[in-house]
Amino acid sequence: MTFEVVNPATGERIAALPIDAAAAVAAKFERAKSAQPRWAAAPLERRLAAIATFRALAAAQAESLARVLTLEVGKPIAQSRNELKGLDARLAFFLAEAPRVLAEQAVHAERDGSLEERISHEPLGIVANISAWNYPWFVGSNVFVPALLAGNAVLYKPSEFASMTGLEVARLLHQSGVPDDVFVPVLGAGATGTALVAQPVDGVFFTGSFATGRRISQALAGRMVKLQLELGGKDPVYVCDDVDVAAAAASVADGAFYNTGQSCCSVERIYVHAAIFDAFVDAFVATVLTYRMGDPLDDATYIGPITRPAQAAVLEAQVADARARGARVLLGGHRAGPPGQWFEPTVLVDVDHTMAVMREESFGPVIGIMPAANDDTAVDLMNDTEYGLTAGVYTPDRERARRILARVRSGSVYWNCCDRVSPRLPWSGVGHSGIGLTLSRAGIETFTRPKAWHLRNRC
Ligand code: NAD
Repeated sequence: MTFEVVNPATGERIAALPIDAAAAVAAKFERAKSAQPRWAAAPLERRLAAIATFRALAAAQAESLARVLTLEVGKPIAQSRNELKGLDARLAFFLAEAPRVLAEQAVHAERDGSLEERISHEPLGIVANISAWNYPWFVGSNVFVPALLAGNAVLYKPSEFASMTGLEVARLLHQSGVPDDVFVPVLGAGATGTALVAQPVDGVFFTGSFATGRRISQALAGRMVKLQLELGGKDPVYVCDDVDVAAAAASVADGAFYNTGQSCCSVERIYVHAAIFDAFVDAFVATVLTYRMGDPLDDATYIGPITRPAQAAVLEAQVADARARGARVLLGGHRAGPPGQWFEPTVLVDVDHTMAVMREESFGPVIGIMPAANDDTAVDLMNDTEYGLTAGVYTPDRERARRILARVRSGSVYWNCCDRVSPRLPWSGVGHSGIGLTLSRAGIETFTRPKAWHLRNRC
C-alpha cells in the first residue's frame, strides 16, 4: 500500500511512498528495541559526532533539501532556506549543551566521605516522535536530536504531508553514523500513528493539532508512558497606542502571514489600542498588499499554497461565519486555484469573539483585527481562549509591556516581536496548546529519566 505526495501548489503527484501498516510498525519497534541499549551504552562523544556530521551534511545539502520541502509542502523557497538555516542554529545549541545537561551530577557529599548523592540521566528507551508538516526540520529536530543524544532510539513518523523530508532526515542521520535501527522512519497517516502509539514505547512526543493530541492522550491513558504534546495556538498580539504604527504593522503582518499563516505561533488575533486602530489597519493592509502570492519556487514569493487540502475549507467557513456575524473583509476572503489549493491573504475587521475566526485556530493566511479600549481590556481579550502558545505586545515602554505580558496565560511572550522561536528558550504551551516542552536545556533533559544514586562507602 502506498500514499501519494501531491505538490499543493500545482496539484501534481510527485511521489508514492509506502505505508507502514500495523505489522510493519510492530516490526520496526522490535528492531529499535534491540538496537537501543548499544546506542545508549556508546560514549556520548559518538552520538555527538553523529549529530555534528548530520549538521554538516544538512548545511552542505541545504539547497536541495529546501527544494524538496518547497515541492511537498508548498513553503516559499526563501522560507524553506530560512528553515534550514534555523536548523543549523538548533543543532549548534544541542551539540553545545548536551554534554553539560547529560553529565552525571554530584549533588551532595558528606565531609567524611561516608555518603555521596548523585544524579545520572538515563535515556527513556524507545521514543515515538509523531510530527507535523509545517516546519518539519524544526519540529522534528527539536525531538529526535536531543532524544538521540540522550541515548534513545527514535521511531519517527513524519506527517504524511512532509514524508519526503522525513526520508531525507533519515538518510542524513544514517549517513552520519546513527544506526538504521536507532532512528527508524515510520510512514503513513493517522492509522500508522495509531499503530505507533499502540507499541510499548517509553515516550510519545507529538507535534500537531489539539484534536489529534487529545486522541493520543486518550490512547495512552493508564499506560504510564511519558507524553509530550506540542499543539496549536490562537496567538494574540496587542498593539499599544504609543508605537511607531508603520513599523508595528509591518512586524505583526509578517507574524500573521509568514509561512502562509501555517505556523503554530503565527499571529492569529490582533488587538489594537482604539486610539490608533484606523491608522494601524491602514498600515497593515498596505503591508499585506506588498506580499506576493505565487510559485513557491520563485525567490520573490511570500505567500504559498495551503498545504493540507482540508484547511482551505476551514478558512472559507471561518470567513463566511465572520461575514454572517457582521465582519468586514478588507482584503481577500476567497480560495484561489485550481491548480493547487490557495487562499488569498485575508484581513477582517469588525470582528468579535463570537466568531470562529477569533476563537479557533485558522492555520492559514486569515487574520482578524479588533480594537481594545485599554490595556486591561486587551489582557482580557488575549486570555479569552482555550489555547496559550505565544502572545506579543508592541510598545516602546518596556515596563508597560512587562505589566501586560505578566498577566497573559501563555508559554512564550514577546515584546516588540512575534512568531519567534529560540533554541535557548523552552517551547511550551498552556491549556489546549499542550503539555511538556522542547528546546532549551530542559528540552534535552526531557528525553531522560533521572536516576538517583545514594552511595555509602560502608553500611
Ligand atoms: P495533525 O494533528 O493533523 O497531524 C500531526 C501528526 O499526527 C501527523 O504525523 C499525523 O499523521 C499524525 N496523526 C494523525 N492522527 C493520528 C492518530 N490518531 N494517532 C497518532 N498520530 C496521528 O497536525 P498537522 O496538520 O500535521 O499540523 C498542524 C497542527 O500542528 C496545527 O494545529 C499547529 O498549530 C500544530 N503545531 C504545533 C507546533 C508546536 O510546537 N506547538 C508546531 C507545529 C505545528
